[in-house]
Formats: sequence, C-alpha cells, structure tokens
Amino acid sequence: MNQYFKLSPDRQREESFKRLMAYIREYVYPYHPYLRGAYRGLGIDVGKIKSYDDFSKLPFITKKEYRKDPRAFILQPKFPTQESLIPYDTAMINKGLLLKYALQAGLNLPRDRVNEFKDMGFKEKVTRRIVHEWFPIHFHASAGSTGDPTPAVYTYRDIKKVLPEMANIVWIEPKDIPEGSPRAAFNKINFNTFPGAPHLAFFQAVLTKLFVGASSFDSFGGKVIPTDQQIRIFASGKFNAITSVPSYFVYWLRKAVEMREKGEIGDMPFFEGALLGAEGVTPELKAYLLSLTKKIGAHPKFRIIASYGSTELKWAFIEPDYDCGIHLDPRFYFWELLDPETKKPVKQGDPGILVFSHIGWRGTVFVRYWTGDLIKGGLFYDRCPRCGFTLPRLYAPIVRYDKDFTKIKGTKVLIPDLVTAVRDTKGVSSFQIIIDKKVPDDPFSMDVIKIRVSADRSMSEGAIKESLSHRIKAFIELTADEIIFEKDEKAIETELFAKTGIKAEYVIDRRQEH
Ligand SMILES: [Zn+2]
Repeated sequence: MNQYFKLSPDRQREESFKRLMAYIREYVYPYHPYLRGAYRGLGIDVGKIKSYDDFSKLPFITKKEYRKDPRAFILQPKFPTQESLIPYDTAMINKGLLLKYALQAGLNLPRDRVNEFKDMGFKEKVTRRIVHEWFPIHFHASAGSTGDPTPAVYTYRDIKKVLPEMANIVWIEPKDIPEGSPRAAFNKINFNTFPGAPHLAFFQAVLTKLFVGASSFDSFGGKVIPTDQQIRIFASGKFNAITSVPSYFVYWLRKAVEMREKGEIGDMPFFEGALLGAEGVTPELKAYLLSLTKKIGAHPKFRIIASYGSTELKWAFIEPDYDCGIHLDPRFYFWELLDPETKKPVKQGDPGILVFSHIGWRGTVFVRYWTGDLIKGGLFYDRCPRCGFTLPRLYAPIVRYDKDFTKIKGTKVLIPDLVTAVRDTKGVSSFQIIIDKKVPDDPFSMDVIKIRVSADRSMSEGAIKESLSHRIKAFIELTADEIIFEKDEKAIETELFAKTGIKAEYVIDRRQEH
C-alpha cells in the first residue's frame, strides 16, 4: 500500500508543499518561459518562498494568459549547441541532469528497448534520454465552447512516471459500499463512448485501461458507430459499464429505452454502472439517469460515478461512490480552494474556487491555475471516512463561477438550473434553449427565452407545454416566451453536438452575438 496516501492530512499537505517548492525552484523557475518572466517581472525570488503565505503571493494563471501563448507554458530548458532552438528566455539545463542522462544512456537504465533494434552512438543515446524527459509527444485540446482549442502537452516522462499512479486511483472503493451494489472487479468490461478526438476524456479512458489492465471497447463515439448500433453491441456483448459524457449518456439511454420497448434488445442486468466525464452531474441528473436505467432492466443498484478534470489539469479524477467526493491526487498537484473575492483559502467545507499547481510534471505546467470552477460543496482535506485514504476531495455541485450565471430580464439565473428544469420535464425528449433579444438587432430590447423541444409522444404537446412552463417558473422564477415543438429529433441532436462534438450545447445565448 502506498504510504503517501496514508499519511496524516497535515503531514501529507506539508510533504506536498515541500515537493511543490522544490519543483518551482528546480524546474518551473528555470525552464517555464511564462512563469519565469512573470516572477522576474514581479521581483519574486522563488528561493525565498518558505511558507504558504509566501507562496500565496505568486500570481494566478487564468485561461486568458494561457490561451495567448500556450507554448510559453511548456517546460523547455536550453541545451548546449541547441540553445537557439528555444525562442524563450529560459535557463541552460542543469549539469546534474545532463550527467544523469549520460549515466542512463551508458548503463541503459531504465532499460530502453530501442537498443535492441537500433544501433546508436553514445550521443544519440543521451539525446534519447533528453527527449524522453522534455519533448512533447502527446497533445490534448480543450473541447470548450469557444471553438478556440488550447493544447496541453505531455512528455514521455509524464506518461511513464506521472499518469500510471493516478490511473490506478480508479480502483479506490469505499469500505462501506451498500449491500448488493456492483463492485469494481478486474474482469469486468467497459464500453467507452467518448468521441475519438484529441480530448482528455477520450484519451484518459484509453490510457487508464492500458495503465491498469482493464478491459474496454473504445467505440470512438456516435459519429463512428451510430448510437443504436452501439446499444446492440453493448447488449449482445453484455458490457458491465459505460464511460460517457452525461448529455450523450442521456441520449444513449433514451435510445436504449426505446429499443427495449420495441423488443429490439432484452433486459440488461449485467449493466452495472457509468463513469461520466467532461460535464458535471447534478443530483437531479443522477436521479433521471437512474430512472432510465430501470427501464432497460439494468442492475437495480446501478452506480453513477462522476468525475472532474480539464485539459489544463491534464487528468480527471473520480468520485468512487455516490456522493463521497471527487478524490484528487496530492502527490502530483497542490490544491487550493479560495474565496472568489478575497482570494484567501476558505474554511474546510465552504464553497470556493479551485486553484491547482502541478508538481513533478513536464510538458505543459501551471502554478496557481485559477480554474474558475466554484466548488459549492467545498474541498475536504482529511482522511476520507469512506475509503480511509488521505486524499483531498471535492464536493458537488461544481459550477462555472463567471459563466454558469447569467442575467435574463434582470434576474440572475443559474444556467444549470434552467437546463435541469427543461431536461427533466416528463415528455421532453431533446431540447435546446435559446436566449435572445426580442428585437435581435436592438441590444436594449427585452430578453426572450425560447425553448425548442422534441416530444417523446408519452404526453400531449399541451400537457408538456404546461408542465414545462410551470417547472421553468419554479426553477428560475421566469417564464419562457416561446415553446416550439420540433418534429425532427435528429436535427436537434445534431445541432446540440455541432460545435464541439463532445459536449451538448443545451443553451445558446444569442444576445452577445448581435
Ligand atoms: Zn474515499
């Protein structure tokens, strides 16, 4: 058992902080173009950072700085004779590291199998060690709604040294899992529906199975294997679990219910759980998904596991069981939860903005990255009462601090509430919400809310309309101006996923476009 995850919370946080300080001194400050420049500009001497108080004077990084020049966030030391290749002001590689590469190359330690197939001179062998540590070999872009992809890169060292430990966190299981609940086991098979794309979600599912030796079929998503075909494969292959984006899983399950009702597939008692990523899972959504799994005869104690990750984070973390918190890794990250206004740490359990720093990574690296994610249930840094490990844990709901709120007709609206109100209305199959101006070209005209709906024929349009209006009023204290019934469900689905191919665009705010 890894002792690091059994330390007392105070001791572990101390260790994590110590590792972070050494990492900033020895790797970030010398080799990180952006942060080296920023710290110098602010007159910060990283050698003098001893306490959290000192550390908290370091500036935050936001998406804005990162997007401007993503390459400036990749660690890149200069090497003798290759100095001119790095267009930034970074330091020459540490001599101790050069010596390490020479020893590794000479002794072939750790063993490099390329030696068995390629004749290499000593210099080439040393270069190979350098490339392993520093050269980006893997890339993810974000599936953000801006359509402006920002890549995060990994080196071979990240993939060999950092990711395997974090991948194995997937096995954490609380000791008190309810009687009769499905358990994680080494011989279960998973069905991965994340679209094949250079996104973290897809690659994390693939990398995890390779690191931990778990079985998974990677479907590459609905564009490669149509949803009804996926469901037929799933049913005949008796898959135990699925990995999916929540909005796509809703669509997938509704399709499965339809196919079950038509007798195209049978009950699926072997279907035990879902690991959802790339979007949050609200309690309402969880309940709704569970109601759908009942209709296809899935396991009666179906488990829904939420996760939290991002391109910038370079990994995603899971909640091992219902409502037990997203378990984070304290070895390769330093975590802070800060008050959005004062930027000071909040009390344990209080809501705050998640800020993280990488520790020990190569490739794209952040120190004090301001995620903009408001963790409403708080960050708990203690020994988890459910699994016994000392791991920081995030509690839902998680919302975008600046984006999930909007003002409609002068009323502050939490967008996820509006989505929940519409999505969970009986009879609604697919939908899209459009926020616009009454006179599109006139920014001073009234806001309007339009809801495009396709109905599932279980209720009349009139009844759906009435229940929709009622629910929207109850959730956001506003009324919808127009409810439009669309006959072509496929057209709505296509538009929902049109922008990023991975996250459904349930809400379109046209007010900013005019
Ligand atoms: Zn736990």
